[in-house]
Amino acid sequence: MADPVARVLDAVVELTDALLDELATLVRIPSVSGTDAENDAQAHVAGRFAEAALDVDHWPIDLPALAGHPDFPGMEVDRNEAWGLVGRLPGAGDGPTLMLNGHVDVVPVGDPDMWAAPPFAADIRDGRLRGRGSCDMKAGLIASLWAVRALRLAGVRLRGDVVLASVQGEEDGGLGTFATLQRGWRADACVIPEPTELDVVPANSGALTFRLRIRGRATHAARRAEGVSAIDKFWPVSQALADLERRRHASVDPLVARWPLAHPLSIGRVRAGDWASSVPDLLVAEGRLGVAIGESIDHARADLESAVAHACERDPWLRDHPVEVEWWGGQFASGRIPPDSDLVDRVRAAHRRAARGRPPDVYGAPYGSDLRLLTGLGGIPTLQYGPGDARLAHGPDEAVPVADVATAARTLALLALDVCGAD
Ligand SMILES: [Zn+2]
Repeated sequence: MADPVARVLDAVVELTDALLDELATLVRIPSVSGTDAENDAQAHVAGRFAEAALDVDHWPIDLPALAGHPDFPGMEVDRNEAWGLVGRLPGAGDGPTLMLNGHVDVVPVGDPDMWAAPPFAADIRDGRLRGRGSCDMKAGLIASLWAVRALRLAGVRLRGDVVLASVQGEEDGGLGTFATLQRGWRADACVIPEPTELDVVPANSGALTFRLRIRGRATHAARRAEGVSAIDKFWPVSQALADLERRRHASVDPLVARWPLAHPLSIGRVRAGDWASSVPDLLVAEGRLGVAIGESIDHARADLESAVAHACERDPWLRDHPVEVEWWGGQFASGRIPPDSDLVDRVRAAHRRAARGRPPDVYGAPYGSDLRLLTGLGGIPTLQYGPGDARLAHGPDEAVPVADVATAARTLALLALDVCGAD
């Protein structure tokens, strides 16, 4: 019999059509964060895990209990139902466990008219499967399932377990991975196949969602000089935040030096006033503060709070009516694989065998993800490696090259052979 590597690589090829069909089916489930379809997607994947003869743990998440936990990572959409899901390919011995962790939730499609094809059509054109969630990150989730099925089909007996964790609520905080860790699932190494264009991403910046309340004094617009516009009072605060962002990028970790902004500060939503002819007495601005790699959440928060406080001190009205800062929603710490982990080298080696192309680059990503929960809370050395370009995630015409999905499946299968060991 051929050696396990050759058998596994052949099995990946054999499963190509079935798994691309499976990816299209999953993309067609419009599992936008906080919708019923998010739970439907979990149930669907649970069925696929069972079909692949994995040991399936599919449990309802006790959301109130989870949300009351001091380490709860946050949630930005309403949910009264959520499900955890793990499929385990049991190893034959006591080898190390490899976890592959992917999320089924997707962000909303935005303006559907901006899409060349319907956002959930999941058609394949020019070698790319298109659709919301295709690259972020149903392709990575299916590549993980593909790898496990190939190991099975090849008749390889791993010594350790491969654990597929399918999670929801990643886009708005990470409740699914948090619930998976709370349930006790652990591993010796973990790959999150988020879209990295098959590069290796062992660190993430963090992102903290915040809300600012800026008070004014309402009056008739015809007598506006006697009122105070909350909109006018927003500008000095906005300027202070722009200065803060610049200051916070004075020096950045070399792992993220390739990005123009390694941990951006951005306002995403502003609401003010309730009448065109009234001076607005309240402006609410919501945004995200990037957290530098190696920086604590508390330090980042204090940085923003003191920048806002200084801006208030320089303005007589704001001195008496200071801007209120609230931290709510997703609170993504930054995260980084432990320096003594050899997982980066193992993934690069597996990729080189699987792709026979250029070795993957290694760099940190400017966004927050479940990586920080797995490395931090879970104590599991974790990195991201997956198909697709994150630039296409969250925008119109999201798509993933199908050849890269297959390459990811080959790499993950070979990684499992390496990490878990084969008899
Ligand atoms: Zn993602």
